[in-house]
Amino acid sequence: MDRRKALGASLAGFAASGAAQAAAAKSPFTVAQAVVPVAASDEVFPVRRIYCVGRNYAAHAREMGSDPKREPPFFFQKPSDAVQFVSPAGITEHPYPSLTKNYHHELELVAALHKGGRNVPVEQALDLVYGYAVGLDMTRRDLQRFMGEQKKPWEIGKSFDRAAPIGPIHKLAQVGHITSGAIRLKVNGELRQAADLKDMIWSVAEQIAHLSQAFELMPGDIIYSGTPEGVGPVLPGDIMEGTIAGLPPLLVKVV
Ligand code: MN
Repeated sequence: MDRRKALGASLAGFAASGAAQAAAAKSPFTVAQAVVPVAASDEVFPVRRIYCVGRNYAAHAREMGSDPKREPPFFFQKPSDAVQFVSPAGITEHPYPSLTKNYHHELELVAALHKGGRNVPVEQALDLVYGYAVGLDMTRRDLQRFMGEQKKPWEIGKSFDRAAPIGPIHKLAQVGHITSGAIRLKVNGELRQAADLKDMIWSVAEQIAHLSQAFELMPGDIIYSGTPEGVGPVLPGDIMEGTIAGLPPLLVKVV
């Protein structure tokens, strides 16, 4: 056996014994796996990472004070346990978070991945998609802006508890690839956000291709694909109704 093969064999043995130990090891407490129910099934989709794309509709980029040139997309993450499941049956209560006085809605199409990859070509990127959901990228806008102005991380503005309300994930077989159609958000019945998914600067396929150059994508990753113009504040008592053509509406009451 040459040295490289021998090293490979010993590493494989190490990995196998590590996995066996992990399976046998007891932990002092359990950590819940974040999941999102899959529509029309008894399955849940385990969430590994939440990626979000920023400024992906030209008119929203302008309202955020930037120039919507087709520069490479940029991404941030929310922790997986930031998901808050919003059942299509009824209205889900969403607590107004601490520390903010300017709490914003951003309605977004979410793509859920069941396959991973690195450097995925754009023509193959949609093969990674398991299904789609309606999501809200809730944002403490005042803190996001304050941190941005100081060139500090945005985390506190974007990545807090329950910052990612999401409806059930609809399998591809049910809804197909969602690349166009209306995306609308009403607050207390008043239309705030209204656009077409085809107005995205970077399509979901292009987002996956770009993301996979920076990170190895894995099954369980979900991608919030950006919000159109019309983001704005909500207050306790407000009811948000988010709709994306082909998916059931999302009804969330801020409490
Ligand atoms: Mn967003």
